[in-house]
Amino acid sequence: HLSQRLATVAKYVPAGSRLADIGTDHAYLPVHLMKRGLIVGGVAGEVVRGPFENARHEIAREGYTAKLTARLANGLQAIEPTDHIDTVAIAGMGGALITQILTQDFDRLAGVNRLVLQPNVGAMQVREFLMTHGFQLVAEEILAEDGHIYEVLVADRQAHPQTYDEEALRFGPYLLAAPNAAFVAKWQHEADRTREVLHQVQAAKVVPTAKVTALEAELRQIEEVLHRVR
Ligand code: SAM
Repeated sequence: HLSQRLATVAKYVPAGSRLADIGTDHAYLPVHLMKRGLIVGGVAGEVVRGPFENARHEIAREGYTAKLTARLANGLQAIEPTDHIDTVAIAGMGGALITQILTQDFDRLAGVNRLVLQPNVGAMQVREFLMTHGFQLVAEEILAEDGHIYEVLVADRQAHPQTYDEEALRFGPYLLAAPNAAFVAKWQHEADRTREVLHQVQAAKVVPTAKVTALEAELRQIEEVLHRVR
């Protein structure tokens, strides 16, 4: 049984895909999709020995060793041309790490048409990456589970992705168009946090004014969006 977070990621893996799940840990996502006949095979990549052993064990236990390969590798280096991977999932990490993994071995995405990404934080950076690397956002979700808020970003390869402004990149064009309770809760929390940081830096008087101005602008933007959607 998958968490709601991973079930949301799973929902956007096209039926019949060959999936690479990077940072797979227990390989729950690819195993779940194999069990339901939703993927035909793929790779479960892990850079850390312990989680890699977890993945290998889980795949063997469920009897998918012939179709799902656990690989101990850094990021996209888990993908070999002979895997014919067409979909990549990266879930449960920060946006900075997800972006670093995608950038580092970008050529390994040669046959990949869909990315399903679930940054725990830093979704803005991921959206910027997609826009500048030939991937068009096609769906977004935001959900609350166990006291955390998660965003899922889905993108398809496209030569000239749509250009988004700062607001769309920060909040997500699809999430802005259909804001739910999790969206409002996230940005209320972010506004509170930014306000707190501003109070601290203003009291300290050692932070460059440019930084303070940027934080003020960010807070104003969050407040505007909250006002609009509530
Ligand atoms: N994807 C699973 C999920 O969403 O439930 C597991 C998330 S777990 C919090 C993050 C995993 O990513 C860890 O097992 C970690 O070892 C792995 N990881 C971190 N950096 C990685 C990298 N560069 N390449 C492959 N795996 C990585």
